[in-house]
Amino acid sequence: MMGDNQSRTLQPKKNPITDDYKVSHNVLGLGINGKVVECVLKANNQKCALKVLRDTPKARREVDLHWRASACLHIVNIRDVYENMYGGHKCLLVIMECMEGGELFSRIQDRADNAFTEREAAGIVSDICKAIAFLHSSEIAHRDLKPENLLYTTKGDDGILKLTDFGFAKLTNSNKSLQTPCYTPYYAAPEVLGPEKYDKSCDMWSLGVIMYILLCGYPPFYSNHGLAISPGMKKRIRNGQYEFPAPEWNNVTSDAKNLIRGLLKTDPDERLVITEVMKHKWIAEHTMVPQTPLFSARILSEDTEQWPEIQEEMTNALATMRVDYDQVHLKNMDSISSNPILEKRRRKDHAATAAANAM
Ligand code: ADP
Repeated sequence: MMGDNQSRTLQPKKNPITDDYKVSHNVLGLGINGKVVECVLKANNQKCALKVLRDTPKARREVDLHWRASACLHIVNIRDVYENMYGGHKCLLVIMECMEGGELFSRIQDRADNAFTEREAAGIVSDICKAIAFLHSSEIAHRDLKPENLLYTTKGDDGILKLTDFGFAKLTNSNKSLQTPCYTPYYAAPEVLGPEKYDKSCDMWSLGVIMYILLCGYPPFYSNHGLAISPGMKKRIRNGQYEFPAPEWNNVTSDAKNLIRGLLKTDPDERLVITEVMKHKWIAEHTMVPQTPLFSARILSEDTEQWPEIQEEMTNALATMRVDYDQVHLKNMDSISSNPILEKRRRKDHAATAAANAM
């Protein structure tokens, strides 16, 4: 079986998936790239999840990076990948372990009656950190770390939290990532192509937002007008304007608040990196964090109608951040080059960014 050695390069199976799996019509979830359905491994009746992707270079990249990441306990495991014709198209059929425990915040919402504590929050953040640490040490940035991509294996207390959806993941040691169609820096100095830490810092910002929501039940940045992402909210994110309001934050430890401050730093150069977070007391000694009851579960369960909007805000903020950080690379290039063609391309890219930001 392919799962024997996740470090091997991905070699999709070419035989029909139906040789080995019974594919059902039971939809487990809908994504931007299609649906995820239930399927069963014929050999042992094990329930799995199947994600179907059109076989494009982008899909190959997603599956390849997820495959490599999949050796980590806190990342959804890929069991098999098939390359089959499906609905008349060449497709990649990705068989994953079935995550039956649902999304992170639904689980917290469901326990409004027995208090969710700061120590539990620290345990959850520590698990997410393990996933990020594994990825970043493998030179992979996830870049789409948000609540709906954090799922539990089972509903029970033994459920393990895992990260999924590598649709925006990027190799951070590959200079290829800079060779966008309108920008090929073949004459740039090697140092500017260097460590792409900005991509990783996206994940650290996400971690800060998720940690903040876990501790109080609402996000640090919100839009004022019910718009998914208002100019005001963007400004607050850029300026790092957020607070720790009473009463929700009164009893939260200063260790937790300091960690959040380090993660939500506006300047990605100042933001904590995952190795620093792993050493932070609140993570390294998460089992010693006080068992202070939090407001989160109650607030999350009372504000369910706001949740889709919160999710959309985070999705958009991440999209903006991915574009902005790509732009940082371009600015670095700019400073070492006075090539007029490069200038023209840069302006073109600026326009594309502005268009993306305006979305
Ligand atoms: P997309 O990249 O198209 O957004 P996702 O990979 O995020 O797709 O999957 C879409 C939805 O399908 C998820 O939000 C989740 O509800 C469900 N899902 C994804 N993977 C699994 C899995 N392994 N087990 C159970 N449900 C899953």
